[in-house]
Amino acid sequence: MKILVGNWKSNGNMADKNKMIRALERTNTDIKIILSLPYTLLSGNNNKKIAICAQDISEHPNGPFTGDISGQMIKDTGAKYVLIGHSERRTNHQETDKIAKNKAIMAIKNGLIPIICIGETLSEYKSKKTKTIIKKMLLDCTPDSGKFIVAYEPRWAIGTGITATKTDVQTIHQMIFDILKTKGQEKTPILFGGSITAKNVCEFINIPHVDGFIVGGASLKPATFLPIIDQMNKKTSKPKTKVTNHGKQNRKCKKRS
Ligand code: PEP
Repeated sequence: MKILVGNWKSNGNMADKNKMIRALERTNTDIKIILSLPYTLLSGNNNKKIAICAQDISEHPNGPFTGDISGQMIKDTGAKYVLIGHSERRTNHQETDKIAKNKAIMAIKNGLIPIICIGETLSEYKSKKTKTIIKKMLLDCTPDSGKFIVAYEPRWAIGTGITATKTDVQTIHQMIFDILKTKGQEKTPILFGGSITAKNVCEFINIPHVDGFIVGGASLKPATFLPIIDQMNKKTSKPKTKVTNHGKQNRKCKKRS
């Protein structure tokens, strides 16, 4: 089953969330949909088909950590997943691989599934260090046991409108899979992200070891998020789309110009 994570970052209110959930409820799909929402919107989801994800977790348990949101608190909202080490956390809050690993372990301890984000910077990409960096990040951030998801997101592709090439994605996802396999973790889903839209998602859907996507900007509104689901439905083996009237302008997966 393919996975699609919509990462709302620091956006959205209760009305936006309810609108999105209503729109997703009308969409018939086999894709596992996960909404990664701000803490303020985590509770109150009764829809079994849509899973909720927090965007961060405290390294600490409950206690004297003012402002922190613990794993136990996230679990209590009904959320099932938590993003770990998203590039915006790494850039804006100096989160290291060590912190990411601690947070991933904390998530697992609290019965949450961490979605561990890794990706190279533009300068690392330009100096052809991607494979070395990704291998190190993967080994440094992922726990030795427990269920988790890996999200490969080139940092230079997040929110920029620039996507990685198919060849690069194929190479890196294969490498991630091979490394996880040596640790007996080959069942770990590997997601790809970075400026994914309905126009470019089909380029990546059938790449081996691309088990789904993490989408930021295009996940904020049904008009741009649902067409991604439509495209994924069309390209995966058992299409089951109930056609919606959202985002008609975005239906086609166009060739890159
Ligand atoms: C993200 O927030 O993880 C992301 C991939 O954002 P965008 O799709 O906007 O590049």
